[in-house]
Amino acid sequence: MPNLPRELPVVTADDDRLDRFDDGPRDECGVVGISGIDLASEQAFLAMYALQHRGQEAAGIVTFDDNGPHVLKGEGLVGDVFATWSVRKLTGRTAVGHVRYSTAGGNDLDNIQPITARYARGHIALAHNGNLTNHYDLRKRLVDEGAIFRSSADSETLIHLIAKSRHETIDAQVDDALTHLDGAFSIVISIDDTIYAARDPRGFRPLVLGKKGTGHIVCSETCALDILEAEYVRDLAPGEVIKIQDGVVTSLRSLPAAEHPAPCIFELVYFARPDSRIWGQSVDAARRVFGKRLAAEHPVEADAVIAVPDSANSAALGYAEESGIPFELGMLRHHYIGRTFIKPSQADRDFGARMKYNPVQHVLQGKRVIVVDDSLVRGTTSRSLVRMLRRAGATEVHLRIGSPPVKWPCFYGIDMPTRKELIASNMDVPEIAAQLGVDSLGYLSLKGMIDAVADGGPYCDACFSGNYPAPLVDVEKGFVSAEGPTAC
Ligand code: AMP
Repeated sequence: MPNLPRELPVVTADDDRLDRFDDGPRDECGVVGISGIDLASEQAFLAMYALQHRGQEAAGIVTFDDNGPHVLKGEGLVGDVFATWSVRKLTGRTAVGHVRYSTAGGNDLDNIQPITARYARGHIALAHNGNLTNHYDLRKRLVDEGAIFRSSADSETLIHLIAKSRHETIDAQVDDALTHLDGAFSIVISIDDTIYAARDPRGFRPLVLGKKGTGHIVCSETCALDILEAEYVRDLAPGEVIKIQDGVVTSLRSLPAAEHPAPCIFELVYFARPDSRIWGQSVDAARRVFGKRLAAEHPVEADAVIAVPDSANSAALGYAEESGIPFELGMLRHHYIGRTFIKPSQADRDFGARMKYNPVQHVLQGKRVIVVDDSLVRGTTSRSLVRMLRRAGATEVHLRIGSPPVKWPCFYGIDMPTRKELIASNMDVPEIAAQLGVDSLGYLSLKGMIDAVADGGPYCDACFSGNYPAPLVDVEKGFVSAEGPTAC
């Protein structure tokens, strides 16, 4: 594995190299492409509903028919941006959709995907999941050559590369443009009514192909196929580029092969939906095995196993099964919190967690509880939850984490905080336990996690190990801080 040195070049916040560009949005997102289905916008809308967990900041759909592209985008949840009547106005049998999860970068409409443009050969709409690691480098070169960018999104770079390609056919232009990209990309592009879909050579992010009648769907996760009652055909292979036109799927030339694939293990830990199949395995099943391993590695005597809902439910069930300690509903999660809510005026450290979670007192009163979470990032949520559980009567709180300590930032599209904000980057396990106020703390080991997954990898586990499988060109050239993409 071509690992980068563990000590990446450090660019400090006052280094003027960081001021060269806007800090573009991180693309931890969901994508969908629909081809050859009447009112494709409705199918895209439903698929995006199913992919909402992959992005809640903004949503957009672009469709194509003889009257050209039809575009609707906005900030917020899919259900806030689209209504039945507005979706129906997006006519055509081809659609591209995107849900965006982004905390960094501008929230203006130009940054909301699908990114659209018109070039010499047609109208383009592009939806991207992942993070390009040579985006600023490419962008600088394009700007130096006179390119004008509308957004700060890394995805817009690809549109310029397609438009500038000297190849004759559109297929060759798309293929050529993709070979310039480094890092993580699962991309769906429509050029008029032709859909192209591609995964980067390491296959960091998921992308699956489905079929419904004579039409086709490409989307981030299988849960989006389920809602459409579409049939799962296959995952796109790492480095594969496909074209869908007139009901025919063609696999174009593959991108240059990486030394080995590196699908993101964090998709299995936290990001993907448990009812999806990712990397050839059920996400729920993988998380249960993580929980079982965790119980074997970090047993403790207790009366109940509870989950931090909902992302840790599967791991907690696995822990309970392996340990023989009953799984209880010890906490409830609120599902209807909007993006904005009124904060009480007094400073209240636990307010955010209390809005989201509530303990079930009769389950916790007088009990020694094992709380299972899928991951620990900043540690702020867990700290509040531990206080909440003790207030509800828990006599002992043992925290178990269904993944190893997150110590390294993600440069491939998971929206992680910078190193200095990652609790495990700055403290060892006993210090973290003290900081969170738990009676004991145990993390699943990296080996235990890798051994637990169905095929044993190789996976990208950079957030746990610091081994970055794709070159971090923008970091090496000083465009992005080694502290993490959101450090500025
Ligand atoms: P904290 O340790 O307080 O930062 O929060 C950890 C919780 O956030 C875990 O329960 C995870 O379910 C969840 N989580 C993990 N990674 C992410 C992420 N990239 N974005 C949002 N939430 C996350």
